This record gives sequence, structure tokens and C-alpha cells, in this order.
Amino acid sequence: MNYQRLNILAIGFVLILLPAISLGFIGWKILLLLLLAYSITLGWGVFDIGSQFFIPTFWRGKRGEVSFTFDDGPDPEVTPKVLDVLREANVKAAFFVIGRIAEKHPELVRQIVAEGHAVGNHTFNHDYVFSKAAAEKQVTEGQEVIEKIIGKKPNYFRPPFGVMTPEIASAIRKEKCAVIGWDLRSQDGRIRTKEATIRRVKNNLKKSTVLLFHDTNPTTPDALREIIHLCKQNGMKIVSIPEQSGIQPYSN
Ligand SMILES: [Zn+2]
Repeated sequence: MNYQRLNILAIGFVLILLPAISLGFIGWKILLLLLLAYSITLGWGVFDIGSQFFIPTFWRGKRGEVSFTFDDGPDPEVTPKVLDVLREANVKAAFFVIGRIAEKHPELVRQIVAEGHAVGNHTFNHDYVFSKAAAEKQVTEGQEVIEKIIGKKPNYFRPPFGVMTPEIASAIRKEKCAVIGWDLRSQDGRIRTKEATIRRVKNNLKKSTVLLFHDTNPTTPDALREIIHLCKQNGMKIVSIPEQSGIQPYSN
């Protein structure tokens, strides 16, 4: 199911039901049920990054292969520590930076790229957007900031909060970006303790392939060190997003 099919289906149902309702064969309350089903499906599309309801999304790889992704940076305290851990373990990750913050720390963005990691767009402001114009501004300005700093146009986009809407999808299509999701939220930003982050990843490791962390949480670098060790111990192959998705991170 995707957005287009849902709308065709909904219009089809209404066209069939309206004459039947007006002729008194069925009650009008059926329309409420239809509206409810429509809203639930739409909600799933908006909040489930893996639904691919509005736009194709890379969000999981092969079982046994795992990649590391970091959102909301770059952070002058945490990002360098995350980079240290990744360098020591020889792991290549993907960083989805917020344009407004990247602008303040361009040297960190350049360092991420210089160390062989991928940088992707996580919008300019990390706000909720409701209009087409606002979505386009967020996506395009995020692209421009990264391009200005590293001299290459990013291909990867990750929506803030994992929320996808028709407006954001349209803005992404315009920029010809690929949406990169995840199949495990480490919840490092919310739980905030190293132990809790490790426990959550450990409990879900066998079925997880794309891990989401935040390089803004001070406990993440230490948790990351242990999680990488855990992956290696469990015989998992650590891969990068370009390897896993087959999508190149930059378009020039
Ligand atoms: Zn975010």
C-alpha cells in the first residue's frame, strides 16, 4: 500500500458508497468507518519510516550485517568522541546533520567526510513542517549547507523524528535524495544512560541491521564502543550505508 493507491481506493469506495447511501441501501455511518480506516493507514505512513508509504526508503539491510548512523549533530563535544570510537574500531558510519548546526561547526562536517564516513541531510532546522513551502525550505537549505561545506551534494536524507509527509516526500524528490531510515532506534537520546542504550541494542541485535544513534548524547560514545564490540562478538558484519544500500552518498 502507498499514498497514491490509498487515495484511489478511498475515492473508489466513496463513489460506490454515495449512491447506495443516497438510495437508502446502507447508512451514512459507513463513511465514518471509511474515514477512520483512511486516517489509521495515513498515520502508519507518516510515523513508520519503514512503511515507504510516501516515498521509497532504505531502512534495513541483510540479516547479520549491521550499519551505524548518527543524527542531530555535529556536536562539538560528542561528535569528535564518536569519531574516535569509530576510527579505533575501523567502522564507517553515516551522519545526518542538521544544517543550522553544521553551519556553526563546518570543520566537524569536513572531519566526518575526511575520515571516510557519509554525511546526509537531516533538514536545516529539525522542525515539524506542515506546508509544501516549509518542507522545501527545510530540505533544500539542509542540502545547500552541506554542499557549501564539503563541496559535494548529499544524496542521503533522513526526516526529523522519522516523520514523513507528502510535502516532505515531494521536497525530497525535487532534490533527488534517497531516504535513509533505520530498523532499530537505540533510544540513546531519550534513555540517556550508557547501560540502557547498550541493553536496548543488545536485546534487539539479532534482528537489527541499521542502527540509529545521536551524536549529541554524552553517553553515546561509550555505549557505541561496547555495542561495536558486541556486534563483532556476535559475528555480525559491520558495513557502511553506501555498502548496505548500494546508494552513493554524494552526487558530484
Ligand atoms: Zn533528528
